[in-house]
Amino acid sequence: MGGTPTRHHTKARRNKGRAHFALNTIKTVPCPKCKQQILPHRMCANCGTYRGKQVINVLAKLDKKERKQREKVLKETEGDKSNIKHQEAK
Ligand SMILES: [Zn+2]
Repeated sequence: MGGTPTRHHTKARRNKGRAHFALNTIKTVPCPKCKQQILPHRMCANCGTYRGKQVINVLAKLDKKERKQREKVLKETEGDKSNIKHQEAK
């Protein structure tokens, strides 16, 4: 049980504390590989890459049917990646 308050809090004091309760919107950045919105400085859960490197196998937990669909999508985005590399070379 909480203790009994020994002193009254004014409305101003109560409201000043509550001024900090607001939630921020979550900031996201597009994944450089698959363009999906992800948290900055985190691995992409969609394609499993971090800083351009494959760090997990996103297909490992999927069954056959899902895997086939996913491989198709990832292949399409990989095409985009090669285009980006070309632009960087110039
Ligand atoms: Zn990604």
